[in-house]
Amino acid sequence: MRLDDYDPGDDIRDLGRGGGGFGGGGGGGGMGGLLIGLLPMLLGRKMGCGTLLLLGALAFLFFGGGMNMLSGGGGSVDPQADSRGGTNVACDTAAEKFACNVFGSTHQVWGDIVSGYQRPTLNFFTESNRSGCGAAQAAMGPFYCPADQGVYLDTAFFDELASRFGAAGDAAQAYVVAHEVGHHIQTITGISDKVRAAQQRASQAEGNAYQVKMELQADCYAGVWANRARNSAGQPVMEAGDLEEAMTAANAIGDDTLMRSAGQRPVPESFTHGTSEQRKTWLRRGLQTGDPRQCDTFSAAL
Ligand SMILES: [Zn+2]
Repeated sequence: MRLDDYDPGDDIRDLGRGGGGFGGGGGGGGMGGLLIGLLPMLLGRKMGCGTLLLLGALAFLFFGGGMNMLSGGGGSVDPQADSRGGTNVACDTAAEKFACNVFGSTHQVWGDIVSGYQRPTLNFFTESNRSGCGAAQAAMGPFYCPADQGVYLDTAFFDELASRFGAAGDAAQAYVVAHEVGHHIQTITGISDKVRAAQQRASQAEGNAYQVKMELQADCYAGVWANRARNSAGQPVMEAGDLEEAMTAANAIGDDTLMRSAGQRPVPESFTHGTSEQRKTWLRRGLQTGDPRQCDTFSAAL
């Protein structure tokens, strides 16, 4: 990708390693305690789709914020493998720098599209820390927290994208960041609130179906960014091969693919992010049109 270097301001923080990282939380009430007991147990197990769903449901119930994860499969970053040191300076590693550059570019693109655009924050963390939605755990994968309008990312996920999900390359990583910023767009345009209200009246299966539409729209918004992003020389940031890298990533983190690779039979009613085919379809739609109005997953037949 051809991205300009982004000069981080107070929109980017490196939280570093935060120990337990539990508690805090936006609107958690007194309910966080149950999570403190449950989360390490859940996270300590091998993460299957079901576990992650349960985790998502718990996070939704107890923090009331509804964090938006990248996929239903999470990650499994090995703490022992971390050797990234403890300097909490944002954008100081190659992986962080890249994420920062993508993040900066999303400001430009969405600032032109959404009137009165307010930037989210980008929060790097290592292994575990806190977010406005409660615990930030590397095993959850990257996520967006509506309560503090923050994107949370442990850049170890980028390595995992390549090694575990077979999605290497900078555009695969950019897709991850742009997808999370897509959730921010849903938050500031009020889509997230509407969906959450509808979910509260819905059955579990219906609620999941709404969640799939949210996630596919975020994929489409990631494509809109990729289509419209230009560097300071006026060049498209997307280079030859980038589209394929992004599509490979979208394919790898579809619910059906994740469940199959976890040795489970895909159960459509339990999907929260959409199939690999759906994720590719909506990312491609954004990529080809560059038009967020084409990302109406709520009216479309998926
Ligand atoms: Zn998402």
